[in-house]
Amino acid sequence: MKPFQYLRPTGVDAAVRDLTAQPDAAKFIAGGTNLIDLMKEHVEQPTTLVDINRLPLATVEELEDGGLRLGALVTNADTAYHPLVEQRYPLLSKAILAGASAQLRNMATNGGNLFQRTRCYYFYDTSMPCNKRHSGPSQGPAGCGALHGYNRIHAILGTESADGNVHCIATHPSDMCVALAALEAVVRVSGPQGERTIPIADFHRLPGDTPQHDNTLRPGELVTAIDLPANGFSHYNSYLKLRDRASYAFALVSVAAALELERSDASGDQISAARLAMGGVAHKPWRKTEAEALLVGQRPTPDVFGRAADALLDGAQGYGHNTFKIELAKRAIVRALSQAAKLEPTE
Ligand SMILES: Cc1cc2nc3c(=O)[nH]c(=O)nc-3n(C[C@H](O)[C@H](O)[C@H](O)COP(=O)(O)OP(=O)(O)OC[C@H]3O[C@@H](n4cnc5c(N)ncnc54)[C@H](O)[C@@H]3O)c2cc1C
Ligand code: SF4
Repeated sequence: MKPFQYLRPTGVDAAVRDLTAQPDAAKFIAGGTNLIDLMKEHVEQPTTLVDINRLPLATVEELEDGGLRLGALVTNADTAYHPLVEQRYPLLSKAILAGASAQLRNMATNGGNLFQRTRCYYFYDTSMPCNKRHSGPSQGPAGCGALHGYNRIHAILGTESADGNVHCIATHPSDMCVALAALEAVVRVSGPQGERTIPIADFHRLPGDTPQHDNTLRPGELVTAIDLPANGFSHYNSYLKLRDRASYAFALVSVAAALELERSDASGDQISAARLAMGGVAHKPWRKTEAEALLVGQRPTPDVFGRAADALLDGAQGYGHNTFKIELAKRAIVRALSQAAKLEPTE
């Protein structure tokens, strides 16, 4: 690891100023569970770390509109086990608890979780070509090692850039962000130009021809909180995570499914609202409102769920080792929706 300067501001404005003073060389650090690993591997080489743990961003607050504000520095564990999150946003609680390990969740923060970087093996190995890592000779050659390499964990959706080329097939590894996408959370940021909010759907981005950018944050901006809207789909929801081993592994495919069901007549329920987001399949949590629209007004049956799955996976493309994910993702969607509708047990 290279030597670095270490700053510990106590206010949001001071933290933003510290970062803005060296936009290319400074990084915020929160729980450190991702950034320190990347520094040890020389993938990230900041010369200044701005420790944000003393900022007043570690609270969970109820909002007047019925929603909930999660401070950026609330740990993933404290978020998942917060009574209001457990009662009103169980989908988020389940998604967080499906990730990492208890020890990591005790350190990892909500802000840091949004920014965790891809788990692509080639990204972590600075001797391999990688367009996402590449920003100069010290960080290895340009290119994409995964495209014609071992790409079992890689993306099947949203990989092509506007000119039809593929520059990066990395996935976003977060579980929490998949639930946030389904719940339509809003990210609050503070930066040199003041405060602004970013809908979670616009926070992460597809790789296009600039895969080095994971998100739409501007230089110097700090995430201060994540707002959850009032509707938490608390009765009918499921977070299904499929992975190579049952715990402490990233998702091959994950699904956040949330439904509202109404009793339409004596013969059964009808879906009145639906949310569906996927992890492990794209550079950002994958959501398509057209797929959700196919569910609304229908009875909750596997056939109906299958049509939504086909729509969500429309245009999916495998790159060899990861082609199995297309069928796996469709089956995972049907199962997650069946669990959300309580047609199948959640194990
Ligand atoms: C072995 C292992 C297994 C894991 N398994 C999973 C898993 O299964 N599922 C899953 O979802 N995650 C998993 N994780 C990832 C873990 O959830 C993240 O490392 C964690 O959420 C990052 O949070 P942090 O506070 O430690 O971030 P840090 O490491 O401190 O920071 C990460 C990045 O976020 C930036 N940052 C942090 N806070 C802010 C802020 N408020 N504003 C702006 N920028 C900020 C930092 O500059 C840095 O670039 C795993 C991690 C490890 C090490
Ligand atoms: S998939 Fe993306 S992160 Fe992985 S090697 Fe290719 S460019 Fe790098």
